[in-house]
Amino acid sequence: MIRQAKGKTPRRPPPKKPSNNQKDPVGVYCRVRPLGAEDVECCIEVISNTTIQLHAPDGLKANRNGEFKETQYSFKKVFGIKTTQGELFEDVAKPLVEDIIHCKNGLLFTYGVTGSGKTYTMTGSPGQGGLLPRSLDMIFNSIGPYQAKRYPDDKNGMEVQNQVDALLDRQKRDSQTTVPKTPTTRRIDPEFADMISPEEACKADGVDEDSSYSVFVSYIEIYNNYIYDLLEETPIDPIKPKWNGAGTPLRNNTEFIPPQSKILREDQNHNMYVAGCTEVEVKSTEEAFEVFWRGQKKRRIANTQLNRESSRSHSVFIIKLAQAPLDADGDNVLQDKNQVNVSQLCLVDLAGSERTSRTRAEGSRLREAGNINQSLMTLRTCIEVLRENQMCGTNKMVPYRDSKVTHLFKNYFDGEGKVRMVVCVNPKADDYEETLLVMRFAEMTQEVEVARPVDRPICGFAAGRRQRNQAFKEELTRRLEECGGPVDGSPTVLNQLLQSFPPLPPCVISGPNDDVTLPRLIEALEKRHKIRHMMIEEYNKTAKMLKSVLQEQDSNLLSKENFIQEQRGKLGEKEKMIQNQKNEIDRLEKKSKMLEYKIDILQKTTNIYEEDKRSLQQELESREQRLQREMSEKRRVETRMQGIVTDAKLKWEKECERRVNAKQLEMQNKLWVKDEKLKQLKAIVTEGKTENRQPQRPSRENDKVPAKRSASPSPVPTGPPVRPLHRRSHSAGGERWVDHKPTTNVDLDTVLQPNIPNAIKVNAPNEKALSKCDKYVLTHQEVASDGEIQTKLIKGEVFKTRGGGQAVQFTDIETLKQENPVASSRKRRSSGTGPDGETMEGDWTDVETRCSVALEMRAGSNLGPGYQHHGYPKRRKP
Ligand code: ADP
Ligand code: MG
Repeated sequence: MIRQAKGKTPRRPPPKKPSNNQKDPVGVYCRVRPLGAEDVECCIEVISNTTIQLHAPDGLKANRNGEFKETQYSFKKVFGIKTTQGELFEDVAKPLVEDIIHCKNGLLFTYGVTGSGKTYTMTGSPGQGGLLPRSLDMIFNSIGPYQAKRYPDDKNGMEVQNQVDALLDRQKRDSQTTVPKTPTTRRIDPEFADMISPEEACKADGVDEDSSYSVFVSYIEIYNNYIYDLLEETPIDPIKPKWNGAGTPLRNNTEFIPPQSKILREDQNHNMYVAGCTEVEVKSTEEAFEVFWRGQKKRRIANTQLNRESSRSHSVFIIKLAQAPLDADGDNVLQDKNQVNVSQLCLVDLAGSERTSRTRAEGSRLREAGNINQSLMTLRTCIEVLRENQMCGTNKMVPYRDSKVTHLFKNYFDGEGKVRMVVCVNPKADDYEETLLVMRFAEMTQEVEVARPVDRPICGFAAGRRQRNQAFKEELTRRLEECGGPVDGSPTVLNQLLQSFPPLPPCVISGPNDDVTLPRLIEALEKRHKIRHMMIEEYNKTAKMLKSVLQEQDSNLLSKENFIQEQRGKLGEKEKMIQNQKNEIDRLEKKSKMLEYKIDILQKTTNIYEEDKRSLQQELESREQRLQREMSEKRRVETRMQGIVTDAKLKWEKECERRVNAKQLEMQNKLWVKDEKLKQLKAIVTEGKTENRQPQRPSRENDKVPAKRSASPSPVPTGPPVRPLHRRSHSAGGERWVDHKPTTNVDLDTVLQPNIPNAIKVNAPNEKALSKCDKYVLTHQEVASDGEIQTKLIKGEVFKTRGGGQAVQFTDIETLKQENPVASSRKRRSSGTGPDGETMEGDWTDVETRCSVALEMRAGSNLGPGYQHHGYPKRRKP
């Protein structure tokens, strides 16, 4: 039966999209064909059953300075040169055929360069049938016994016809025609015969026997982005000029009418279909082969007539399987449109994937080749975008509409189904560069995922309905046979009886004396009467038997009806339960959605908190670091300050001590000078009294103080003469010294140390010592203005007073001073005074002048407090 697709493709059973989020990657298989006889160099090596290795041919290597490396590509499975068509089918197409029988869609295409074995893989050759004939064979082997006798033409409504009607229909057709119906006797093209050997025949498991099946095939070719129906029967119109799909008018062609291109449409389920495409219902493998072959022939003729290159077109063979469940009795097809499933398997032999340059195409052919390339390019782009969308979660538009091939397969990638690709490769070196591109595309295709088709729910009736029905029919026939009942025109008891009916003798009476005819007639009639009786009896018997069978059947039916009623009741209960459960599921779904929403919010909150936590932690860390830095800085400053403080403290301690010492000395000296003055005054006073008592002694002789104080030069020099400074002393050997060193003096580690031989060393001057000596020296220490200690040796001469006492007259001072060269130079620079600074001299002028006045010490007189140096606090030695 041939029909045209009008408007809509067969319905997809579930209008609602199945909620299936399981996905499978596109299954990519690689088949390596054997090297052709004319080819020598091979550039492909099968490494394992999933990997192949490409290596650049020698020429190419030389061109690229040998920098070319070997590349490996992995696929779901790699089929080497020894793989048979059967083995390939087993792995690649068999699962797709099983799917279509179980109401799932499939797409299988071959991809590769021209000559790589795409057509060989898809179609095959006599004795080596490819994937297409094997798929058809497997389908018919599996559903053969369960095929519907006729399928309704109306695809839109898909009215499922009663199987009894179909049977009657068939019977009517059979009686009208004499064409033999057995498929084996059909006219099969020899080229297509023996594609599959009987021992290779296979069958799908788990075929639903309680369904009725019908197979429809269509065969299209896409050339130059135009779709042609290869099964269309074109009426011959020799007058009207024809145009091919590409818009080229065909001249001078009265026999060949090129096919008109078809358009693609989308049905209400968003499935793409070729509008007005012929769909042929086929009942057997052979019939399907024949249809395919018809298409092939048409394709070949078109290619020749239109000067087309066959490798540049895509061919698509579509197998549609309609499947309708039987009713509860297993008798009729269920009259429920929603229960009818139509699944389809697309077998695509794509055009050669090589670039235009390689085809040496010219002119219009080049344009065609360009277009073909364009459609393969679109296929590549679609796969790329799909992959990107799936991997990166983007939502880019997939350009399916850019070419007919991709547009036709849109549903497979957008909807659900199993998609498989066989990448065919020719290992010859010439193909190397094209093969590289093919491999890259194939590897990328593997990363695209397609929604896994869901299992369709089977109708609610118990399984095994067809078998039970069949068994019942057989039982009925058997019983009827047993009873000699009429079964399908076979010779029965009744027939035998009818045949043994005695024929009536001639009934013409020859004359009044004819006494033979009547008695013969009577005899025959009697015989017949007897037989009639027998027949009536037989009839009654059979009727009775039939009645009993029918009654039995009736009771069976009754019980069946009861059973059905019972089942219906149960079904109702079950439905109620299902409804309840559905409600429950709804409730739970709502709840889960709510919870998901909450989880989402919580997740977001957690994220915010975590973000906060992270930033706070970072801040804490940075602050801690800063603190640590500051602490270490503080410690460093502290130690430095401590060092400075200790230094300063030490320095100041030293300085203070030095200053205290200096002050002490100064004070001591002042005190001593005061004492001396006091003593001198006292002496003057006492002397004056004595002078008053003695006659005419010039009072001024010994008392220099008033003279000096008056500052008037004395006309007569009195007292011992003052020796000039720096005068050389007498020879040391002749003089005796009183060496007066107050205990308060500090030991200085100076190089120059006063050392007076023959000296009487005293802490305080006493009369006894003075009486024995004629020279006196006082070692006096004081702090100079620069802070250094200077030692002065105040020298004087001892002479006897008239009163019998001892007096010392200071004559000169030797100064011993230690100084820091740096400080002194600084000082020099600043003051400009010489080493014998006037200041020092000046300081002492008063004392000196005063000390140059003779001191008269009486024998036995007390030296006074000025000499009690020991009274000062004891000093620490430096
Ligand atoms: P394509 O369709 O890719 O252009 P074909 O299927 O027409 O290539 O193959 C080209 C030639 O190579 C054919 O003669 C075919 O018989 C042969 N061939 C291809 N694949 C195989 C194979 N696996 N084993 C043997 N011959 C093959
Ligand atoms: Mg081909």
